[in-house]
Amino acid sequence: MIRSLQRIVLFAGLLLATAGLAEAQNPGQGAGLPDKDADLKVGRTKAAAQQAASVDFEQLSSEAAGWLSGLLAINTTNPPGNELAAAKYISAILEKEGIAAEVIESAPGRGIVIARLRAGAVPDPSRALLLLGHTDVVGVDRAKWTVEPFGGAVKDGAIWGRGAIDDKGRLVATLAAFVALKRAGVRLDRDVIFLAEADEEEGGEAGIEFAVRNHWDKIAAGFALNEGGRPFVKDGKVVYVGVQASEKVPINVEVIATGPAGHASIPRTDNAVVHLAVAVAKLGTYDAPVQLNSVTRRYFEQMATLETPETAKWIRALLEQPERLQHAAKKLSEMNPVWNAMLRNTVAPTILRGGVRSNVIPSEARATLNIRLLPGETAPTFLAELRKLVDDPQVRIELATSLRPAAPPSSLDTDFYRVIELSCSDDERWS
Ligand SMILES: [Zn+2]
Repeated sequence: MIRSLQRIVLFAGLLLATAGLAEAQNPGQGAGLPDKDADLKVGRTKAAAQQAASVDFEQLSSEAAGWLSGLLAINTTNPPGNELAAAKYISAILEKEGIAAEVIESAPGRGIVIARLRAGAVPDPSRALLLLGHTDVVGVDRAKWTVEPFGGAVKDGAIWGRGAIDDKGRLVATLAAFVALKRAGVRLDRDVIFLAEADEEEGGEAGIEFAVRNHWDKIAAGFALNEGGRPFVKDGKVVYVGVQASEKVPINVEVIATGPAGHASIPRTDNAVVHLAVAVAKLGTYDAPVQLNSVTRRYFEQMATLETPETAKWIRALLEQPERLQHAAKKLSEMNPVWNAMLRNTVAPTILRGGVRSNVIPSEARATLNIRLLPGETAPTFLAELRKLVDDPQVRIELATSLRPAAPPSSLDTDFYRVIELSCSDDERWS
């Protein structure tokens, strides 16, 4: 459903630039280099890129397109996943390149692939770079598809299939970059690890959790690059590259309304369905307070330089004028629902259940809410806020999923981030 060919090129370029970081930070080669000298870093990055120039990228791009088609044709809908087939497929590609790849079955029919390009005999996990992505996809509603979702067809200059965006396209781009490093014989000064993981769409038990719990020694890394960010293209030109450095925390919540059961011929005001509907309407239209953190602040500061003067005016009000913060946030949220989601905890009602017969008032009705908490927010505090909002003794609000600890934001003050930033700002890369 996307122009995946283009994505492959863009991300492969980005990842190769990251490999340049290994060169840039080599204390042996860079003896005496000021560690944060940006120009030298760009120089080093370009040097690595030149080294990589020996790779036939046109050839690699067309090979990668074939890999993606093949991967899309493997149905890894999760549940049940079936990622072992995808893991074996990827491992065969790596092995053909002379890269040893380990397929590990994490659960029956499910699996991950791990491979490593070594910098030296003794690995240093604190310096290693981990490139990862997931092979599973969410289910499809076939009636809404105009092409076979598990066909990997190439049509109108694009590769089509479930997972082309999330995450097989990006995973194959990562794979292509990894293969390019090997083909170019780039002299690494840190290990680069490739991980195709499973079960990302359903919690990661048979994927990243399995890998962390049982094979930490094989994936431990000082830096990791995963899905999330992407280039934003307008009129065929890359306007900016989004780098995701933080993530909201998803939780599912059940809203349960109860009341006396009865016959529909005698309606009552304590009807559970009515109480649920009122509660869901309040929750679904709730604007939680606006909050900025260091990552979103930096994002909006940079977006202000790219947006139209009118939009930039509202962004500056958001950042600089506390008394206009709420109003500016409202304006910006109306302009772009993504901005709304970046600025606050959000509530999205997704499932409604209640009643079994048209003429019977049920004693219970339920709704599921998918909530996304800003990093640093806690579920009990936010649920207390929602209970206060609903304020109905007939309605309970309960946490339905177990909470995983929120990951702290990635630092924007690392050489890793700076090299990503530099390579993304390199206009030649996008021309
Ligand atoms: Zn994904």
